[in-house]
Amino acid sequence: MENESKVTYVTLSADNEELHSKLDAAIEKVRGRLGQTHPLFIGGKERPTQQTTDSFTPADTRVVVARVASATTEDVNDAVRAARAAFADWRSTPWQRRVELVDRAAVLIRESAHELSAWLMLEMGKNRIEALGEIEETADLYHYYAEQMRANGGFSREMGRLSPADTNTSVLRPYGVWAVIAPWNFPYALMGAPAAAALVAGNTVVMKPSSETPLSGVLLCDVFRRAGLPAGTVNLVTGSGRIAGDALALHPDVAGLTFTGSYDVGFEKLYRRFSRSYPKPCIVEMGGKNPAIVMDTADLDRAVTGVYRSAFGMGGQKCSACSRVYVHEKVARELVTRLVSAAQDARIGDPLERTTFLGPVGTRGGFDDYARFSSMARESGTVRTGGAAIGDGQLAHGFYVRPTVVTDLPRDHLLMKEELFLPIVCVQTVGSLDEALEQANDTRFGLTAGFFSGRQEEIDAFLDRIEAGVVYVNRAAGATTGAWPGVQPFGGWKGSGSTGKNIGGLYTVQCYLREQSRTLTK
Ligand code: NAD
Repeated sequence: MENESKVTYVTLSADNEELHSKLDAAIEKVRGRLGQTHPLFIGGKERPTQQTTDSFTPADTRVVVARVASATTEDVNDAVRAARAAFADWRSTPWQRRVELVDRAAVLIRESAHELSAWLMLEMGKNRIEALGEIEETADLYHYYAEQMRANGGFSREMGRLSPADTNTSVLRPYGVWAVIAPWNFPYALMGAPAAAALVAGNTVVMKPSSETPLSGVLLCDVFRRAGLPAGTVNLVTGSGRIAGDALALHPDVAGLTFTGSYDVGFEKLYRRFSRSYPKPCIVEMGGKNPAIVMDTADLDRAVTGVYRSAFGMGGQKCSACSRVYVHEKVARELVTRLVSAAQDARIGDPLERTTFLGPVGTRGGFDDYARFSSMARESGTVRTGGAAIGDGQLAHGFYVRPTVVTDLPRDHLLMKEELFLPIVCVQTVGSLDEALEQANDTRFGLTAGFFSGRQEEIDAFLDRIEAGVVYVNRAAGATTGAWPGVQPFGGWKGSGSTGKNIGGLYTVQCYLREQSRTLTK
């Protein structure tokens, strides 16, 4: 964070020539390695599989980025067994050594940041700055968790005494095998960071990346391996969610789980089923339906820029993306006009190009959703701009769509209630702050929210009443997006997250530990 050249999600205008030259070279290098086959990694050994899955680039679906192993239930069982076997040694490894190894992994990520970013752009479709930002964030998260262990002395604290003969200590200790299941939109940060937190805490890990971005898991696993993590402490099972993911999450020897992904899988399929014989920690970080509220005293330049960045940055495919705006009736017309104009000026193109703001939609499912949601918007509201895919010219083979602004939808319309995960923002007009807050909170989600106002009493009311884990006030850099570890801890309330503690914050590592109270009597 002290480093001035740091690329974060809010430095979207980075025009650093050196940075781009390094990325150009990295892109060239990884192009030469497209389509290679990658095995599983279990108990310190590579394991090829009979079945593989092709990971292609959403920018051009004819290009296979990697051919990745598909784990069977048997492979998953072996991975859990290997992690379990490695646990006793890893648990008793001094925490300072665990921290050193995870710190080393962070350094390795930084050293290969351009190459990892190039793979990320290719496999997931995010633009240069978003990709570099994610890789940098991943390294920062590793360092942050290592630092939390140091700052808390490994979480061992002397307690009070009832008798001079007693010594009482509170120690936080690991659980055992920790499963990490990640989404495709932040495949490095949201696989690497929970794994790093689990590892510094002394758990061993089995990682399952999204089947949309399996190469990310392979490359992260390789980093842990090069950092010197002992065999069995980090294992990788690539494959489908329904087979490998389900088998891993519900394995009886998995002691804890971190899942990041949709509400439907995270809550319905995993949280409700995870604990069978006794309660176990189940961290589920899920979606959002993040609102921005714009009052009549707002600085509209900031509001338009903030909403534009959060609604359309990375194609709205962030859990923190802004997909609803409640704007005061006095400034509604102007806000919509300016937002529409900004959307029409967005640079859409190949994510590998320097000037691209908006790359393709990351998945075929999302691309199909865009057509469906656009037609629903036309039926029930007014599409002010966008609402159409781009199916011609150089972009004809990718999942390219136009940023979309919708108004006049009924308040309880599906597009106002469900996470869209696309560059679509729905704007509603309100007459008061009370009305805006009531609408903003009327959702099962509670991840992020933004507020634009020139009145302190309104800001205070927003902060007091909004139901969300991450909130921003008057922020042009992103109305609802752009958190950074150690700066804005990130997590959701209600249907957006299970722990009430945020990622990259003061209480994250503790989520991977359980307390033991020790009394020793002389
Ligand atoms: P998803 O729920 O479809 O998949 C997430 C992961 O779960 C993938 O690895 C998938 O293979 C696996 N999976 C699927 N079915 C499974 C099953 N039955 N058992 C076990 N694992 C299974 O989500 P996605 O499309 O990859 O990611 C997008 C979602 O993630 C959005 O809802 C987004 O808001 C959310 N997200 C949340 C955060 C956060 O921090 N709260 C961050 C990023 C993304």
